[in-house]
Amino acid sequence: MIKFGPSGLCEQFAQSGLSHTKDAAAWLNKLGLDCFEYSFGRGVQIKSATAKDIGEEFARQGIEMSVHAPYFINLATQDEEKANNNHRYIMDSLAALRDFGGKRCVFHPGSPLKADRKDAMNLLLQRFEKVLVLKEELGFKDLLLCPETMGKKAQLGDLEEVISMCRIGDDSIVPCIDFGHLNSRDCGIYHTKDDYERTVDRLLEGVGEKKTDKMHVHFSKIQYTANGELRHLTFDDEIYGPEFQPLMEVFAEYKLNPYIVCESAGTQTRDALAMKKYYSTLSK
Ligand SMILES: [Zn+2]
Repeated sequence: MIKFGPSGLCEQFAQSGLSHTKDAAAWLNKLGLDCFEYSFGRGVQIKSATAKDIGEEFARQGIEMSVHAPYFINLATQDEEKANNNHRYIMDSLAALRDFGGKRCVFHPGSPLKADRKDAMNLLLQRFEKVLVLKEELGFKDLLLCPETMGKKAQLGDLEEVISMCRIGDDSIVPCIDFGHLNSRDCGIYHTKDDYERTVDRLLEGVGEKKTDKMHVHFSKIQYTANGELRHLTFDDEIYGPEFQPLMEVFAEYKLNPYIVCESAGTQTRDALAMKKYYSTLSK
């Protein structure tokens, strides 16, 4: 089943007088949403008991949870010690994901910094193979790990780089396609259904049907410059895009079942609902 939900707690949630993540479960269920992404942007600091408690409430309400690993992870780092730490942050994220009872963990691949891009990508792929070994050794084989397409040109994680990461992993390595990021890094590539189809067709060819069907999706409108992503916007933006409607049409037509997380700035729940509502008019 295709799923829609927000990343993190939105402004509307706070305005309802709620503040605890646990309360988001019933709130999202009442709105008719399906999933929720918990972000460990600044580090994995949740206690196991707390995560289990939150996870139980989300399970009760039928809202699937996913996690976003810390933003500072860089698998292309030259520094061995930092690389080992980065492996640990991903494993810590997977452990928390297990406590939440969720299935998907998203992470940012990394940045080449001063290295040549191809060399950096080769190093990243070697490091990623270690991540895959650790993932299995620590008993996280069944959890999906999703390398994300990134919004700045200087970051590793264009569509082809994410595809190459997914190709070395087993079925549990699934792409996280952030359409706002891809739109930003190339200064506005998504306008029509054809534009989105090109990306989905490339995924079908590059990672296969199974991984494309269950891909992770991040969607938001994002302001960009010539270097790529600048800041996340809301669906009220009329300048930068991209628009979600043609993408929903592609998902319906291709009968795909992605897990779609909205990352709008503050209005992510309202905007996730807008996508779900539009999608439901197509799939009847
Ligand atoms: Zn991300």
